[in-house]
Amino acid sequence: MSEESTALENEIIACDVCMKEIPKSEARSEEASEYVAHFCGLECYDKWKQENNTDEE
Ligand SMILES: [Zn+2]
Repeated sequence: MSEESTALENEIIACDVCMKEIPKSEARSEEASEYVAHFCGLECYDKWKQENNTDEE
């Protein structure tokens, strides 16, 4: 295991729903129409999904 990591791996992003800051490597992500949304966890992901309603079922 190397302790070296790129800046990208250590990048901190904010959850698109609750704005909590999380490491990008631990974030869930979903491609939206014009950007990639990031979430701290499934709860926020589900919430975002409902609000954006991208699933057509
Ligand atoms: Zn969140």
